[in-house]
Amino acid sequence: MVLTTENNMLKIEDLHGRVHDYLRISITENCNLRCTYCMPAEGINLTPKAHIMTADEIETIAKTFVSLGVKKIRLTGGEPLVRKDAKDIITRLGKLGTELTMTTNGLLVHEYIDTFKSAGITSLNISLDTLQKEKYKQITRRDHFDALWKNIELLLENNFTVKINVVLIKGFNDCEIIDFINLTKHLNVQIRFIEFMPFNGNQWDKSKLVTYAEILEKVQDSFNFENILRTEDKPNDTAKNHKIKSFKGSFSVISSVTNPFCSTCNRIRLTADGKLKNCLFSNTENALLDTLRKGESILPSIEKNIKSKFPVRGGMEDDTEFQNPKLFSKNRSMIKIGG
Ligand code: SAM
Ligand code: SF4
Repeated sequence: MVLTTENNMLKIEDLHGRVHDYLRISITENCNLRCTYCMPAEGINLTPKAHIMTADEIETIAKTFVSLGVKKIRLTGGEPLVRKDAKDIITRLGKLGTELTMTTNGLLVHEYIDTFKSAGITSLNISLDTLQKEKYKQITRRDHFDALWKNIELLLENNFTVKINVVLIKGFNDCEIIDFINLTKHLNVQIRFIEFMPFNGNQWDKSKLVTYAEILEKVQDSFNFENILRTEDKPNDTAKNHKIKSFKGSFSVISSVTNPFCSTCNRIRLTADGKLKNCLFSNTENALLDTLRKGESILPSIEKNIKSKFPVRGGMEDDTEFQNPKLFSKNRSMIKIGG
């Protein structure tokens, strides 16, 4: 049974015993940046608006998931804050009684501070891959570094927990690993180094990967061994957490490529066009939105989707499979999944 009950509460459990209580919802495929590692150079064909979930549909689907035991919802995209009715969506989801959070490129957060507060959002993941203005322009293909930095300061002034997502690409920003960590000396932020992952059209190849081991090596070259603390990871956490002694902030590594954390995975993803993906790397999806629009129950589709979840990375168990372009190019590009 995939939808099982515990203390009369339904829960979404897969065939490998993993309970899924964390839903990531992409609310748009649009974005105000063009990050090279996320978006194919030729751009993407946007799904027609009529096939994108409305605010009502997002709320209905989210409520169903909450009734199935989901305790945490993350909004993502594309860039979630470019959606015109983002405030309405955030406000509605803020009433569902779950932890609500968001991954954003941060450029529009100044317009949403009050909305976040009233929806109970206390923590945000902000994407920032470089501390150098010119490089920011190169990787995002837009010149908005100063605006983003101002918004990070604004979030900190307003006491939000700020986690900074840094996708590391060899030869581009791996030389900034220590600069990012030094930022945590006086700023209470968590730097999250993310291993560059292969998706359709993002020109991934292994030589661009900066591994968890390489990151730690650089850290050990710059800081005394006894000052590098390995701090506790939360259950189901994808991040391996560290801190430099006496620094205000911390840093972590998300090693999806070299050290997948599939055995404790509790995440399930809903794309902006209403497809359920049981893994970031899965090639198969279930069309929840179509079912909802037919007026039918979405429970059988959720059950079918979770039942087909592989134990590891969408079924690509070894590195040769995972790094095979024939396999990863069958998946969506990251901008259409939502991270
Ligand atoms: N636009 C928002 C943002 O940039 O934060 C949310 C969507 S974005 C797809 C979500 C996260 O996925 C970002 O932190 C981004 O850096 C990360 N990401 C995108 N492509 C990636 C890749 N190929 N490998 C690793 N992380 C990636
Ligand atoms: Fe847009 Fe985020 Fe992708 Fe960058 S990483 S192109 S900001 S969706």
